[in-house]
Amino acid sequence: MAEGCSHTLEYLGDQKTDVGVNKYFRCVKCGDVFVQTADEAKTYRIPGVKGSQTPR
Ligand SMILES: [Zn+2]
Repeated sequence: MAEGCSHTLEYLGDQKTDVGVNKYFRCVKCGDVFVQTADEAKTYRIPGVKGSQTPR
């Protein structure tokens, strides 16, 4: 896993929801995806979402 990754986040885009806008980021180093919810109270990490990219 990406222990010690300092997470360099790349802004992917946002998605409108009923309550606001969720913002999506991806770490360019480890490929984890982060979702910042509309209320910005929580940021969810979605580990191992590498998609078509294959970071080391
Ligand atoms: Zn990372």
